[in-house]
Amino acid sequence: MSAVVEFVGVEKTFNAGTPRAYTAIKDVDFRIEDRHQTGEFVAIVGPSGCGKSTILNLIHGFADVYPPTRGEVRVRGKRVTGPGRDRGMIFQKYSSFPQRTVLANVRFGLEINQQVLGMSRSEMDDRSHQLIRRVGLGGHEKKYPHQLSGGQQQRVAIARSLVLKPRIILMDEPFSALDEPTRYDMQRLITELWHDVEATVFIVTHSLSEAVYLGDRIWIMTPAPGRIGTTFDDYLPPTHGSDPILIQESAPFREAVAEVARAFHQLEQAGAANGET
Ligand code: ADP
Ligand code: MG
Repeated sequence: MSAVVEFVGVEKTFNAGTPRAYTAIKDVDFRIEDRHQTGEFVAIVGPSGCGKSTILNLIHGFADVYPPTRGEVRVRGKRVTGPGRDRGMIFQKYSSFPQRTVLANVRFGLEINQQVLGMSRSEMDDRSHQLIRRVGLGGHEKKYPHQLSGGQQQRVAIARSLVLKPRIILMDEPFSALDEPTRYDMQRLITELWHDVEATVFIVTHSLSEAVYLGDRIWIMTPAPGRIGTTFDDYLPPTHGSDPILIQESAPFREAVAEVARAFHQLEQAGAANGET
């Protein structure tokens, strides 16, 4: 079976060869199989500055970060050379165009890919409307981003990404700027959506509960230079589709979060003992 995303001995040193050289990640190796029909949800946690965003940016192929200094980043068997329609990114900050309506924001990805997608204007509109309804924004099509709440703006960002049916969705602390009730709403939305999306999702979060709730796997990174220090793959309580508030208050869930927290602190202390801060 082919891997949907694979890192082979990946290292990223920013400003390599200069006095400001800084190794953000080192020896990052993993392989996520392309599980059709289901996809997979990988939650990445780790201390600030350990290279979480760097990993997502390398998968995305962002010019600022790509290429890796060593090793290889592969998406669906091919070396990444730049961004592509098969990968969508959702950031913490609202990434919509302020001067475009909700509809025009969601349609944007289709417009710039119109040639290759071969979609007519009305097909693009239909598909955009469908996604807007799917993220719970039906009736808001004509509004501008500044007329929406923070949670609604993140719904636009999610719709903008999903409209292109990406195989891989990259989320970099997507809900960190939202208040707690809105975070729960977004977690609920994500678990509802993600079954029909059938994509592989990488989510960076600083909330261990969010990682345990959303993740099929959790990777805990070491302090910089970051690598994947501990992984939780199988035992996590199945939480998809259950109410985030009820689940996250349950005893087995809290025990799972505590176990992840212990592993997190062990890695942090080991890093400090090695002189890595
Ligand atoms: P995280 O997301 O885990 O907080 P990042 O991946 O953003 O960490 O960054 C890891 C380290 O690499 C940080 O020390 C950061 O300052 C540095 N870094 C990230 N991007 C760049 C860049 N474009 N140029 C120089 N240094 C960078
Ligand atoms: Mg980051």
